[in-house]
Amino acid sequence: MKTHAAVLWGRGEDWQIEEIDLDPPRSQEVLIKWAAAGLCHSDEHLRSSDMGSTENASEDAQDQKPGLFPMVGGHEGGGVVLEVGPDVHSVQPGDHVAASFFPICGRCKMCITGHSNLCDFGAATFLPGQISDGTARYHLNGQPLNVMAKLGTFAEHSVSHEASLVKVDPDLPLGVVALVSCGVTTGWGSAVYRAEVMPGDTVVVVGVGGVGINAVQGARMVGAKNIVAVDPVEFKQKAALDFGATHTASSMEEALPIVTELTRGQMADAVILVPSVMYGDLMAGALSLTGKGGTCVVTAVAPQSQTECSVNLFELAMFQKEVKGVVFGAANPRFDIPNLLALYKAGQLKLDELITRTYRLDQINQGYQDMLDGVNIRGVVTFE
Ligand SMILES: [Zn+2]
Ligand SMILES: [Zn+2]
Repeated sequence: MKTHAAVLWGRGEDWQIEEIDLDPPRSQEVLIKWAAAGLCHSDEHLRSSDMGSTENASEDAQDQKPGLFPMVGGHEGGGVVLEVGPDVHSVQPGDHVAASFFPICGRCKMCITGHSNLCDFGAATFLPGQISDGTARYHLNGQPLNVMAKLGTFAEHSVSHEASLVKVDPDLPLGVVALVSCGVTTGWGSAVYRAEVMPGDTVVVVGVGGVGINAVQGARMVGAKNIVAVDPVEFKQKAALDFGATHTASSMEEALPIVTELTRGQMADAVILVPSVMYGDLMAGALSLTGKGGTCVVTAVAPQSQTECSVNLFELAMFQKEVKGVVFGAANPRFDIPNLLALYKAGQLKLDELITRTYRLDQINQGYQDMLDGVNIRGVVTFE
């Protein structure tokens, strides 16, 4: 079939809307019609930085690696199943689904030990071809297209492995479903699962965009006493107060006296780093906000070539601080996506308020410009 998709032809280029050919689903694959796709920063990382490189080689060398581009973008999605191929057991036509940034095989060591955000299937996220057999379902003028995270939600239709889809209740707005499929869960889980925020804790969230603001929500839901939202954009600081922040600051330097005062110098139990791009020199400020026995969680994506960071190793050991990486909020998509949507239905998780603006697919470059300009908490592409 023919469908329309936003395609990235190379680093630093604009998204191009193309009419592409999509093959029917094969074994274990599903044809989805997307209703909404979130404008997550990860697709912008792919466009602007070296994310997607398979090693720390120079960008020039990596861009010549076959298969990464051209790529259909998008990995946050809410949609409806149109058709299933043979051997599909988890969904049927008419089901509503969330995209899962990480496919879940259900059999590997990480899946069966409750860490399915680290499933072995994730290793192929940026490699060409389908999870099922490595061949392409997407073509343009006979040329195979790669697909972001095996999902490609910046398209009217996708063919994805059922491992990349999570069934959700049909009465949920699909724009909200799209956000929970990545950004919401990543932020919420960073606070709840990875930082293990406890009632009464003091938490600092650095960067309160579409992901960080959900770390604020997570910290509030588990009973943090003080939640300090740090962001240079005043509109986002104000929004963070609506999502549960108790204090705001425009920088980590500005947050330092606030946290010192709030904790009588004990400093934060948890610091969660969600700036738009992670750089090593942010660690010094984050760790000076982290108290004795505290945890510093690195959620944001760094350029893949970042290998150095500033850490006071004496204080790290003597104050027994922890530094933790996290991906997808250490959440299990098949449990956490429906669970967060149930919390939304119960009125305990704010999701409608995250969507600042909606865009048509052909407005996607404007949507990303708005994200970079800091005028959106989250932009969402909606399809007819
Ligand atoms: Zn994402
Ligand atoms: Zn697995």
